[in-house]
Amino acid sequence: MPGHEFTGVVTETGSGVTAFSVGDPVAVGNIVDSCGTCPMCEAGQENFCHSFPTLTYGGTDRRDGSTTLGGFSREYVVREAFAYALPAGLDPAAAAPLLCAGVTVWEPLRSLGVGPGSRVAVAGLGGLGHLAVKLAVALGAETTVLSRTEAKREDALRLGARELIAATDTARMAAARDGFDVVLDTISAPHDPAPHLRLVAMDGTLCLLGHLGRITVEVMDLLVGRKRLGSAGSGGRRATAEMLRFCAEHGITADVEVLPSARIHTALDRLARDDVRHRFVLDMSDLD
Ligand SMILES: [Zn+2]
Ligand SMILES: [Zn+2]
Repeated sequence: MPGHEFTGVVTETGSGVTAFSVGDPVAVGNIVDSCGTCPMCEAGQENFCHSFPTLTYGGTDRRDGSTTLGGFSREYVVREAFAYALPAGLDPAAAAPLLCAGVTVWEPLRSLGVGPGSRVAVAGLGGLGHLAVKLAVALGAETTVLSRTEAKREDALRLGARELIAATDTARMAAARDGFDVVLDTISAPHDPAPHLRLVAMDGTLCLLGHLGRITVEVMDLLVGRKRLGSAGSGGRRATAEMLRFCAEHGITADVEVLPSARIHTALDRLARDDVRHRFVLDMSDLD
């Protein structure tokens, strides 16, 4: 979704703002408000707010009822609580996709306890997938990329993966059975989860992050090996801030192609053809 994760510079602060000053580099993720009182908000998971968080782009402002315009604007007014200091050393354009794509893969990696020695497989190497590989590798996991073909092998290894397993390589797929503690599936097109479930280790988890529609699962594929099926999306304020600190420490940003905002149609056309490595970022400074 365009315009829902962005970075910029503080140009003005409200009278009650203490965390930011004019000139501070700042980042905004895909939610900008929530009820603040439900159990999810209390748990620091504003992204799961029971009365639905206010989306940064195309949401309805909780205060004045207006439609939020996200990064498609010269300026954006945001509550201090939903703005994040952009750590020095992170390129603002390449850091922007961390704010939704990054935290979407960060939360499950953290909640599933991924760390040194964990065996992680990432299916799909797009905006979510390439960040999942970078973050899993930086967390110390032995990381593998699952792909339809061999085409992305070089890309996978460059991102730090140990290996790419192509679905077409039936012998390798069979050998990898029960081989991963966590499989993060970032493929957005509808697909059968069974081949990925087969790769999950006993008590491990297949986490579906790409396709958010209905799927069919054979419960037997979960029963044998006590496997778990999960999902996640976006991030709470705490996890987002934690993820940004981690990325700054490890020098992690997204692989991006920056285009002037006037070329948005080029970006959308190429996105439709899956022709991007791995995220487009629009530079809005040409609006001035
Ligand atoms: Zn809430
Ligand atoms: Zn997103």
